[in-house]
Amino acid sequence: MASPAGSSRPPSVERLLSAVRPRLVGPREPAALLAVARAVIADERARLGSGAHGRHIDELALEVRARLDAFGGPGEPGLLTVINATGVILHTNLGRAPWPVAAIDAAVAAAASYSLLELDAGTGRRGPRFRVAEDHLVALTGAEDALIVNNNASAVALAVGLAGRKGVAVSRGELVEIGGGVRIPEIIRRAGARLIEVGTTNRTRADDFSEPLASGRAGLILRVHPSNFRQSGFVESPDPRALAALVRAHGALLVEDLGSGALLDTAAFGLPHEPTPADALAAGADLVTFSGDKLVGGPQAGLIVGRADLVARLRKDPLARATRPDKVLLAAIAATLGLYRAGLATTAIPVWRMVAAPLEALRARALAVAAQAGDMLADLAGPPPGPPGGNSPGISIEAVDLVATLGGGSLPGEGIPSAGLVLRGRSAQHVLARLRAGDQTAGAPAAGVPAVIARIDDGAVVMDLRTVDPAADPGLAAAIARALAG
Ligand SMILES: *Cc1c(COP(=O)(O)O)cnc(C)c1O
Repeated sequence: MASPAGSSRPPSVERLLSAVRPRLVGPREPAALLAVARAVIADERARLGSGAHGRHIDELALEVRARLDAFGGPGEPGLLTVINATGVILHTNLGRAPWPVAAIDAAVAAAASYSLLELDAGTGRRGPRFRVAEDHLVALTGAEDALIVNNNASAVALAVGLAGRKGVAVSRGELVEIGGGVRIPEIIRRAGARLIEVGTTNRTRADDFSEPLASGRAGLILRVHPSNFRQSGFVESPDPRALAALVRAHGALLVEDLGSGALLDTAAFGLPHEPTPADALAAGADLVTFSGDKLVGGPQAGLIVGRADLVARLRKDPLARATRPDKVLLAAIAATLGLYRAGLATTAIPVWRMVAAPLEALRARALAVAAQAGDMLADLAGPPPGPPGGNSPGISIEAVDLVATLGGGSLPGEGIPSAGLVLRGRSAQHVLARLRAGDQTAGAPAAGVPAVIARIDDGAVVMDLRTVDPAADPGLAAAIARALAG
């Protein structure tokens, strides 16, 4: 590429590599080093081509080192973590459930070591794949057997395959989009099953399923929890017991996709009762599927419980192998489910801790964070222009009552009384963006300020403390002060 007159050419790869090598700590594989050096030279050539001045070779060498460090190595965080101050407990875009400590420990141990994943300790021979999580599910739901796959969407795809050559009948009121553009009808079709739509959008009766079952067109009824919306008015949906009786009469199957699938009774927390997998099985479902990372509160997983003969068929399905969880997921979901059996779910599972947090405790935290953020803001603003107390003209940090939600398609439209903060006096969009950015710049004055995801209500920035771990409150206060300063 021709460079404009006066600018130099980038150094050769060999020269750059000689300048980089003394700056590296420890060995690097030559191929990785070469790839980064070439990329830096290509970028430099493009800069020169656009008329910029050539950079000194030492600068380019530092650039190579910085890019290598950013790719990975000790202390390099993978995903960027954020504080979830949205008040949506199961926020799909923020990674749904934070894991219980027991699940994290189990996952780390499983990842770091070999394990008896498929080896029988007694005989020394190959045994069934680690079954602890599935045994927990059997005990917790009263099912005959259980199977774990990678997520609930694959659990549904696997289960509807039991229809074989016959069709899968679904009420038109339950052909839902679950988020991220994923639609139940498409999952059914991609699983190779034929969809038979039954009833109408607002009203479907058990009787509507009679013809497809009696004619042999349908071999399976799929009930889908309408997770993320609520119908009201002139609506009717079939009683699951009536559907169960129908499938029995016609030798068909009833599969229920519960979506969230609470393992504790939500009514105990002042919320409406969310159907549990045990409820669905008791009402006659042959199989029930639900997610591991919604109300169960653990890692992403698809949990399938129900009849032993059907679970055995699913286990042999090649699709089960294609959606098989790894040892880390199995260890983490087993540890999560074990907490329910140990009677520790509401204290040890973050999702349930958030649901159960008393309003009074949240109000007290809101006052404390508001005061701390105010003090920090006063410090940042410095003595001269800002009046004492941190409340520069028009800026306010106020503790308020709010309404949180479960999210993740659980109990749509149901609010949970909550408390948090309202920030006023600066452009809400600007504050939201500053909160989102946090400060990752090492050595910057505000280094270590966490990124915070908040929301805008009525033109003001709102932060709900129900979804914030109390241990993160000081970081939240620092983030608020930084976002409002300057
Ligand atoms: C969330 C949800 C799914 C998908 O579950 P994933 O675990 O995200 O794959 C399927 N069906 C319903 C009803 C849901 O709410």
